[in-house]
Amino acid sequence: MMAIFEYAPAPESRDVVDIRPSYGLFVNGEFVDGSGTPFKTVNPATEETLAEVATASSDDVDRAVQAARKAFGVWSALPGAERAKYLFRIARIIQERARELAVLESLDNGKPIRESRDVDVPLVAAHFFYYAGWADKLAYAGFGEPRPLGVAGQVIPWNFPLLMLAWKIAPALACGNTVVLKPAETTPLTALVFADICRQAELPPGVVNIVTGAGETGAAVVGHPDVDKVAFTGSTEVGRIIARAVAGTDKKLTLELGGKAANIVFEDAAVDQAVEGIVNGIFFNQGHVCCAGSRLLVQESVQEEVLESLRRRLSTLRLGDPLDKNTDIGAINSAEQLAKIRSLSDLGESEGAQRWSPACELPDKGFWFPPTVFTGVAQSHSIARAEIFGPVLSVLTFRTPAEAVEKANNTPYGLSAGIWTEKGSRILWMADRLRAGVVWANTFNKFDPASPFGGYKESGYGREGGLHGLEAYLDV
Ligand code: NAP
Ligand code: MG
Repeated sequence: MMAIFEYAPAPESRDVVDIRPSYGLFVNGEFVDGSGTPFKTVNPATEETLAEVATASSDDVDRAVQAARKAFGVWSALPGAERAKYLFRIARIIQERARELAVLESLDNGKPIRESRDVDVPLVAAHFFYYAGWADKLAYAGFGEPRPLGVAGQVIPWNFPLLMLAWKIAPALACGNTVVLKPAETTPLTALVFADICRQAELPPGVVNIVTGAGETGAAVVGHPDVDKVAFTGSTEVGRIIARAVAGTDKKLTLELGGKAANIVFEDAAVDQAVEGIVNGIFFNQGHVCCAGSRLLVQESVQEEVLESLRRRLSTLRLGDPLDKNTDIGAINSAEQLAKIRSLSDLGESEGAQRWSPACELPDKGFWFPPTVFTGVAQSHSIARAEIFGPVLSVLTFRTPAEAVEKANNTPYGLSAGIWTEKGSRILWMADRLRAGVVWANTFNKFDPASPFGGYKESGYGREGGLHGLEAYLDV
């Protein structure tokens, strides 16, 4: 990409991770073979195979659920203060092994080491610390006598592999539940290191079980009759299938699905700050973010100024080796996801929007997509409606605050939104009217374990994080 400075390569060393040629399932505290056909996980930046990973069949899932059921008796009977000790121990081990986890996450997922090291892994530890703190205070959380649900079946996506695991496992264990978790097929490795961390923390066997595999394994977890609670993060499409599978059973369900967030810039906003927020909103993690600010709504009077500044800023982003500490934009997670981003972007062009990317050299091997901005986007265009889940920004304009609200809410999703303005009263006026679970003001993509996260409409239901996140794992 057009460089203002010449940077020497600054790669993080891979030596800190020891990737085994093959991995089994983690059931009842042991690594065991899976009876399905093993699959390979690759480094999306190079297409190199990292490891072969076991596939859990429905029999394997059944064994994992049985182990979790047996462990539930022991785990739920422990005083909260004792469960807290295990969670604090896990959090500390995550901190001790942070560099290993960050490098492995970047290798398996393609995200820049700057993000896995400074965002993902610290937040993972923070989630365990946070929910460890709740484990002995559940009686004061406002949900009555705390009663755990039992066995939680959890299925997560590939965009924040270890962080989504933490969002699922930390509150479940704090409340006294046991879990069977299926990581995404393209990013199973940090979940398997987490299994090792559970052993290191001497967590009682069966409290955490990790079953790897594709969608079929996920369906077996969700459909198992002895699972009491299903927690899913992923696409709205699969969310619908799961809601149908769970309907009519006693299972409790939370769904964290897709999004198409509006990032709204008013004419009185500090432009440079807003541009940083727009970049962070859509190009963080290659745009593989459910709450990404993928629709920029900019007030017409400042459109040119904002776009010029945005283009200039994008020309300084560095795309390439995820393990290089200077890299801003890493690899797209898989060939499938790259194909999806390409086809939606091509559709954007054929529907009449104007496409722009900074001058940018893509590596020969691996899955890459340049940061892309579409202007002249109408609300009816596919790129204004569909979740692209890649580094692609659609720019729309508005004239009045009321028009901004109307356009922002004109989506089947409702996960997040951003507002950029100097006026406090306008922030409150807007936040009141935006149908989104999270509304950021003069910032974007800020996460904290103490604040709840979740959506409206097709973005799902239930909240993760904070006090609200406990409710999903208690019989209230
Ligand atoms: P996905 O296709 O829905 O996959 C999510 C998980 O479900 C994966 O582990 C997948 O396995 C598994 N799965 C697939 N079919 C299943 C079935 N029939 N039953 C049970 N499990 C099944 O989503 P994705 O492409 O991995 O992730 C991207 C989507 O996740 C985006 O739409 C994004 O917005 C959403 N997301 C939402 C949040 C949030 O908090 N709201 C956070 C992150 C991502 P395989 O990996 O093997 O296919
Ligand atoms: Mg991978």
